[in-house]
Amino acid sequence: MNSYIDIKYINLIQSSLSMFKKKGDFLWNFRCPYCGDSQKSRTKARGFVYRKKNDLFYKCHNCGVGTTLGGLIKYVDSKTHKDYILERYKTGSDHQISKPEFEFNEPVFRKKGLFKNLQKISELFSEHPARKIMEERQLPLKSLTDLYLCKSFYKFTNNLVPNKFPSLDGDHPRLLIPFRDKDGEIFAYQGRVFGKEEPKYITIILDHNEDKIFGLNTTTKDKGILVVEGPLDSLFLDNCIAIAGASFRKPLMIEGRLMQNRELTIIFDNEPRNKEICKQIDRSINQGQRMVIWPKSVVQKDINDMILSGMTKEEIEKIIKENTFSGVEAKLKFSEWRKTNV
Ligand SMILES: [Zn+2]
Repeated sequence: MNSYIDIKYINLIQSSLSMFKKKGDFLWNFRCPYCGDSQKSRTKARGFVYRKKNDLFYKCHNCGVGTTLGGLIKYVDSKTHKDYILERYKTGSDHQISKPEFEFNEPVFRKKGLFKNLQKISELFSEHPARKIMEERQLPLKSLTDLYLCKSFYKFTNNLVPNKFPSLDGDHPRLLIPFRDKDGEIFAYQGRVFGKEEPKYITIILDHNEDKIFGLNTTTKDKGILVVEGPLDSLFLDNCIAIAGASFRKPLMIEGRLMQNRELTIIFDNEPRNKEICKQIDRSINQGQRMVIWPKSVVQKDINDMILSGMTKEEIEKIIKENTFSGVEAKLKFSEWRKTNV
């Protein structure tokens, strides 16, 4: 999309929108102009403009109206809409917006007790299959106190995010991994399968203003932070966050502060034949990040495998420390690593 034009026009119509407020990147909220929003409360605002894939859409959680951003502009101000169409046309961004999808849901406000009715893995009896699976991975015992068994993942999620799963067919249990902010409030969670269901991980966002970073409640930015991809891997190391499906490309913000390259150590899986990983490492080196390039002596493909092979956390942390590189040195080590066949 041409976000510059879209944002410009949202700002142009905002004076016609009551209680207009920018709530985040690509998220705006105001009283719904279609239904007039709540008649009882003058301060309720349930209309949202939000981004889906590459386009902006409008949805009201009071009357259920859903349309494209263009549709909203047209409804609010047909004259401005003509300019909008023309300007998009001129810049070649007037592609057909295929079909709006309206799975967007109003952010659930963060809550500490969101999972209070679920069983912690640490509370399951020792022979319980869910507990056995986690113990077989040798996750630190203390981490089992903040991982949960969710017996019906679709149903549980629909209660928090209405209609996230339009059908409950095929509902199944998942391990819930909460993403907590510094205060311990849950702003997202990941559901990981116990069996062979696909996809292996489903991430549910409750607050779209927050970056999908796992481990904010257990790390301090006062010392170097390790950054891995998977939440479960991050549990093995001290002061480690997981970027969990978010991008390493974007600058990392923690508690509103942009993290500097020197404060972070980026750790990818040890998979030199994985093209996607190589691409990401290459890009991160070019951005000046400090990277772990695994030495030849390590044959395991990720931190969990290293633990399972008998390495201790301290041993892994030592390898990480001794094999963190940046700049030219990182490039050199990276090209050597790519040639190994793990
Ligand atoms: Zn409405």
